[in-house]
Amino acid sequence: MHRPDHRRDPHRDPRPGTAQQDRFPAADRFADGAQYIAGRLACGTSGRTHTVVDPATGAGVLTYELAGTDDVDAAVAAARAAFPGWAGATPGERSDALHRFAAVLGAQAEDLARAESLQCGKPLKLTREFDVPGTVDNTAFFAGAARHLQGQSAGEYSGDHTSYVRREPIGVVGSIAPWNYPLQMAAWKILPAIAAGNTIVLKPAELTPLTSLMFARAATEAGLPDGVVNIVTGAGREAGEHLVGHPDVAMTSFTGSTAVGRRVAGIATATVKRLHLELGGKAPFVVFDDADLEAAAHGAVAGALINTGQDCTAATRAYVQRPLYEAFVERTAALMETVRLGDPFAPGTDLGPLVSHAQRDRVAGFVDRARGYARVVTGGEAPGGDLKDGAYYRPTLITGAAHDSEAVQSEIFGPVLVVLPFDTDDEGIRLANDTPYGLAASAWSRDVYRAHRATREIKAGCVWVNDHIPIISEMPHGGYRASGFGKDMSMYSFEEYTQLKHVMFDNTAVAAKDWHRTVFGDR
Ligand code: NAD
Repeated sequence: MHRPDHRRDPHRDPRPGTAQQDRFPAADRFADGAQYIAGRLACGTSGRTHTVVDPATGAGVLTYELAGTDDVDAAVAAARAAFPGWAGATPGERSDALHRFAAVLGAQAEDLARAESLQCGKPLKLTREFDVPGTVDNTAFFAGAARHLQGQSAGEYSGDHTSYVRREPIGVVGSIAPWNYPLQMAAWKILPAIAAGNTIVLKPAELTPLTSLMFARAATEAGLPDGVVNIVTGAGREAGEHLVGHPDVAMTSFTGSTAVGRRVAGIATATVKRLHLELGGKAPFVVFDDADLEAAAHGAVAGALINTGQDCTAATRAYVQRPLYEAFVERTAALMETVRLGDPFAPGTDLGPLVSHAQRDRVAGFVDRARGYARVVTGGEAPGGDLKDGAYYRPTLITGAAHDSEAVQSEIFGPVLVVLPFDTDDEGIRLANDTPYGLAASAWSRDVYRAHRATREIKAGCVWVNDHIPIISEMPHGGYRASGFGKDMSMYSFEEYTQLKHVMFDNTAVAAKDWHRTVFGDR
């Protein structure tokens, strides 16, 4: 395998003993490249490199060679070779391997948290308390779930036959993940696929490959056979499209933007693949006039700012019934101003930078354009000072935007909340449903009938009542409408990653079956 000598950029990469290296003690784990194929790291062969950048400082962390189509072919071949053995393992054997996998991940929790914080700019308290424990819990959940794959019970439905249903793995799954929760997205894609007996090739986002690679290595350390989990780290247009169109890949599972999801769907459909799409969101946050204002304001700030707003379920559009509107805007803006921006590794930090300077500039563009048609109540700028080199942006609250404006309709994917008033319950629910998306939503009320109505009538894959954001391994996550289809997590995810086979046994042992009359007449 070609081993380049420019894996570490001499101008930008961490030097041993520097503060940058302290931020990333696991750096030398990637010395052999950023592809993980058949149980070992390898360099990509596209001929192009990518540098992972710490968005808090702008410093390079690791330069790696991007995967080309040959690397995708090698990963798919490894997954294909591993499939018969892994699919043929008993559920108990797969479960044991996943339990060991959860234990290895648990032992590496701090390294995983630091690497995730470094490549994404997430505060360490978020990765330590949410990304990493969530991933370990997901792994433990699927270790248990692997033993509970079920089909319909067997029976004599025709009278003359015994029918039963086999639930079988699909084959090699090709998955593509975004950069906002790289570790959790890798887990959500890989775990249900392999628990059900499939093998997988995952393409993480180019910006954030580190924890997907660590996750795959942990699988090998836990004793999963080589080739069951493979990672190709390449560009979407090259490695991503090659993976989606690959004839030996039986299923595509994509998480990312709706625009790219449409393109991926076209390629997958042309090759008649099973398809699972987890796409963008623009979650409404509906506050009725009997809600607990303090709870709603705290919920809106936390729900809008988690992961610096780069969360597909983040609260992005708060609709507040007129009697509470002014007080909600005032309290929410005041709470936003108390949030401490800073270095993700500093203990006092609440909010880190965005994932990249390009993403920060994209968010700033939305807000700058909004000044022309709405009011920026707080935020709306990069902080400067000690944080000037990082991709930081202040928590931002916008009011007065028209409902068809881009601030209300488009996914901004940053720490920006738009707040709008409504009068009647009908209007609040109608506005909540008035974007193309349908991933998540919340309703805030102390009236059980109002809350129930909102959960029935809001078109989204998840509706919280008096909270916004929590997820749990046992419950499904997935979208309605332009947010995609199919479910991650929970037993429901097995519907995506398995196929059902009807097996029908004749019980009559008669040569001339009754139904043959339709062919032979009375003979
Ligand atoms: P993106 O769509 O730009 O990229 C996602 C992935 O697709 C990346 O790995 C990228 O390299 C790859 N890709 C890009 N072009 C491709 C192509 N032509 N063919 C194949 N692959 C291609 O999304 P992003 O900016 O990385 O992530 C943010 C988006 O992800 C947001 O829209 C967010 O809502 C969405 N998201 C959704 C969920 C969910 O569960 N629904 C979860 C997390 C993120």
